[in-house]
Amino acid sequence: MTRSSNSKTVGILGGGQLGRMLAASASLLNVDVVILDVGDSAPAKQIIAPRSSALSHIDGSFADPAKIQELAGRVDVLTVEIEHVDAGVLKEIESVPGTKATIHPSPATISVIQDKLEQKKYLRAHGCPVSEFIEVDQSVESIQATVTQLGLPLMLKSRTLAYDGRGNFVVRTVDDAADALKALANRPLYAEKWVPFIKEIAVMVVRTTDAEVVSYPAVETVHKDNVCHLVFAPLRSCDPQVSSRAQRVAESAVKTLTGAGVFGVEMFLMDDGAIYINEIAPRPHNSGHYTIEACETSQYENHLRSILSLPLGSTALKVPSVAMLNIIGSSSSMPPIQSFVSTALTIPGCSIHLYGKSESRKGRKMGHVTIVADSDAAVRARLRPLLAALPLASP
Ligand code: ATP
Ligand code: MG
Ligand code: MG
Repeated sequence: MTRSSNSKTVGILGGGQLGRMLAASASLLNVDVVILDVGDSAPAKQIIAPRSSALSHIDGSFADPAKIQELAGRVDVLTVEIEHVDAGVLKEIESVPGTKATIHPSPATISVIQDKLEQKKYLRAHGCPVSEFIEVDQSVESIQATVTQLGLPLMLKSRTLAYDGRGNFVVRTVDDAADALKALANRPLYAEKWVPFIKEIAVMVVRTTDAEVVSYPAVETVHKDNVCHLVFAPLRSCDPQVSSRAQRVAESAVKTLTGAGVFGVEMFLMDDGAIYINEIAPRPHNSGHYTIEACETSQYENHLRSILSLPLGSTALKVPSVAMLNIIGSSSSMPPIQSFVSTALTIPGCSIHLYGKSESRKGRKMGHVTIVADSDAAVRARLRPLLAALPLASP
């Protein structure tokens, strides 16, 4: 069969919702995708059937060295939809001369990003703005010494395997140290000085195989219980320069990294206009879901274009205003989600994305909706009934 845009096969480590949206984009470009994740019903595997047995998805963990090697043997380009993969194996694959699969972003980038302390040190060493942080041992004394140094409250974080705030603990008084150790038992730790930001913002940056960077417009992200709840674009601020400054900060940081792909750069905006980088994700990002409906090219399509060395698509907004609302499980019960979707179906300008997860759990991302309109006021008016219909946390 002759295929028009590209004949390379892409392997994705991880089969969650980000992999699902990447796979959906890949299908529009006739790009074959092979997914590595446990089971055969991972969200990404549900929507894309391999075109031949040689391309069938792989059942296994994205942290399993043998399975990663198997995936590398089947594809031309390897990429990730989650950073918690075995970066050591990716480095080995990369170092074998004549290896067929190229890896994007680079294993070195994934490796530095997946350890949040190493990531912060890296950013500081490369002149990127980050707030104060310090390594902490698994001991009450170490946490108390950190409190003396950085003050209260203090954000204690797991260096590894963190997502959706699972790995963060806010130390409010020195007496919280023991509880913090219990909550983050056996995890390597570091602490960040508390950042009294006025807004959280994010910029998706696309890095090409030629090390060029382009960015999407800056967005405002609103978190609830450490999890992204809402995203608004474009970013509104009394300082019209904030957006472009945030784009420059994000682009400069991503420029220092290696390998291609989309990077989600999360930042804090301070009262005095200063911008600090919170963290970088080496992959498409929750705060970039809005690009599917609201930008000329989605973050997923541009991720594929960049790792396949195809020309990038425009990152410009094509609507005046957009919001993205995550649908987060409130319990194991599915009916609240179905009821939310019934409301979403009645809202003009609202696009529904469900991730095909068969079970809901409190705090689990089950889907999202994107709402576009001609003005911020119209987006907010359309958002109101959706917020009222959100699954409520069970008592
Ligand atoms: P994800 O990868 O899902 O974005 P995560 O588990 O890696 O989340 P962080 O992004 O480090 O967690 O933190 C989650 C949220 O906690 C941030 O979006 C912000 O709201 C808050 N937060 C993080 N660090 C600090 C800090 N130093 N001071 C104040 N608030 C913070
Ligand atoms: Mg994170
Ligand atoms: Mg984060």
